Amino acid sequence: MEMEKGMGMEMRAREDIEIGEDITPPIPPLSYALHHSFLHSHCYSCFSPLPLPLNSNYNNTKNHHHYYYCSPACSTTRVVSTEELRILQSHHHHPFSSDLRAALRFLQSHPDDRIAGLLTNCHKLLLQEDDEFAATIREGAKAIATATDMASASAALCLVLTNGVEVQDYDGRNLGIAVYPKNFSWINHSCSPNASYHFFLSPPPPCCPNSTKLRILPQHTVLTKDDEVCQDNGPKIVVRSIKRIKQGEQVTVTYTNLLQPKEISSASLDASSVSSDQNVYRDYAIRRLTDYIDDAILQYLSFGDPELCCEKLENLLTQGLLYEQLEGGEVKSQPTIKLHPLHFLCLNAYTTLASAYKVRASDLLGLYSEMDEHLLEALDLSRTSAAYSLLLAGATHHLFRFESSLIATVANFWISAGDSLLTLSRSPAWSEFAKWDLPIANPPLLKHICSKCSLMDNFKAILFHREAQNADFEDISSEFLDCVTIITQKVWSFLIPGCCYLRAFKDPIDFSWLGTSKYSSLRDVRPHLCCTAEGHLQERMHIFQLGVHCLLYGGYLASICYGRHSNLTSQVQNILDCEECLINDSHESD
Ligand SMILES: [Zn+2]
Ligand SMILES: [Zn+2]
Repeated sequence: MEMEKGMGMEMRAREDIEIGEDITPPIPPLSYALHHSFLHSHCYSCFSPLPLPLNSNYNNTKNHHHYYYCSPACSTTRVVSTEELRILQSHHHHPFSSDLRAALRFLQSHPDDRIAGLLTNCHKLLLQEDDEFAATIREGAKAIATATDMASASAALCLVLTNGVEVQDYDGRNLGIAVYPKNFSWINHSCSPNASYHFFLSPPPPCCPNSTKLRILPQHTVLTKDDEVCQDNGPKIVVRSIKRIKQGEQVTVTYTNLLQPKEISSASLDASSVSSDQNVYRDYAIRRLTDYIDDAILQYLSFGDPELCCEKLENLLTQGLLYEQLEGGEVKSQPTIKLHPLHFLCLNAYTTLASAYKVRASDLLGLYSEMDEHLLEALDLSRTSAAYSLLLAGATHHLFRFESSLIATVANFWISAGDSLLTLSRSPAWSEFAKWDLPIANPPLLKHICSKCSLMDNFKAILFHREAQNADFEDISSEFLDCVTIITQKVWSFLIPGCCYLRAFKDPIDFSWLGTSKYSSLRDVRPHLCCTAEGHLQERMHIFQLGVHCLLYGGYLASICYGRHSNLTSQVQNILDCEECLINDSHESD
């Protein structure tokens, strides 16, 4: 048995916990540091976005605009030492800058208890003399050793590297790092966790309301009063259950700490990977494929060429990369590297494609809104964008069934798929059909309450009066899947004609066909557009229905991860409200 952690360094449920409940109150960090790239946009203390304009913010006169606070409360709770300011000035672009500042801050705020009951992994990290990483740590420790002795400095830096978590905002950006006390840091990692966490970024309230009590405790150790101390500054962390947890059961999360950032999710989605058996080449191939995808994304984000980006990504997805290309021109008779459609690199590509096609559609509508042929082309692009969104959500959902840690990601993807489908159902391009004497007025979209499932009722119930229940989770998920599988079958061939990669997919949600048939063989799909007015009306209705289902289910999952009053759930609510207004308007004008 491996004794990685000390006895009792795990957390167990104090009581039975239902799905989608807070397990901890917002826990303030022991130490934290904002990443360098956010120093000018986010509060140095609580990590919340700065109110604009920048120069009116509360900054210390000694600061010389190295960092800013969002409020007077934040500027008084987070005092920056001269050593820290020195690191800010002299290590601007040091990759370790945030870790160093967090370590320094930790040393200064914990002069008596220099490990706070946490693991430092110091021996492991500094073990090898010739190791490049160990050398970087030693060099970093030197930079903060002026405030203390070298041994404490190394220990503090190792502690930050071992326990530090990336603090993310709702958009998933890594704003900075923070080290949390035992009641978070002792929660173990699992690839199939029963809990998730998110951050609470706001200036400290006048008093500290401790709404939820700590519902977990270590097995062999007693937490002291100090462990639950109420401190006011820094980004707070909240742990929530994403499954039902019985009393005494161990609570686990999937976290990306600083030593293994992103590797966890990549590796775990990697299972079926490339279609080549040559494992020797695999790491190399993945690296080259990643570079290729990054390069395509750069075309879009930096050079503003979404069209070239789509072309490059779809080339890669449909044809793969030849080893010749991988080997840099050296001709070898090696097989083509093709990505499995559920590989995490593909998911990354789908995200980009959905966004790039959307931008292309709206560019086209903006430029040539008067010209019929462009309207139809814009409709084609929107369809492809919606199809990629749906595929992204469906593929991630497929993986989510085996990996509960993907819950927040999949919630996000269903919501964007829903949004994208609703946008498509409202596209001005539909009016084109009216010009061909086809009676395509506003369809009666009002009936978005599905007769086959209770998603809408559930969503409203959760928003207004009750928390999610574990028993509901399976029911709601299977109801949702039943409904979307049926509706998807009706619209999928309408969504995909514009894209040869998508045409290879029989179904973007139920992947059972993947193992059985050759997914790469193209299927017969209906020609461009269905040619009857009733056909279009039907298609629009189905797209609308599908969109509402995706939104509601995404909102439901978001309420489990983030609570019912989160940004994501209110985003869903807003889209639905807006939809309802549009419907009412169109009815009044009838
Ligand atoms: Zn603040
Ligand atoms: Zn339904």
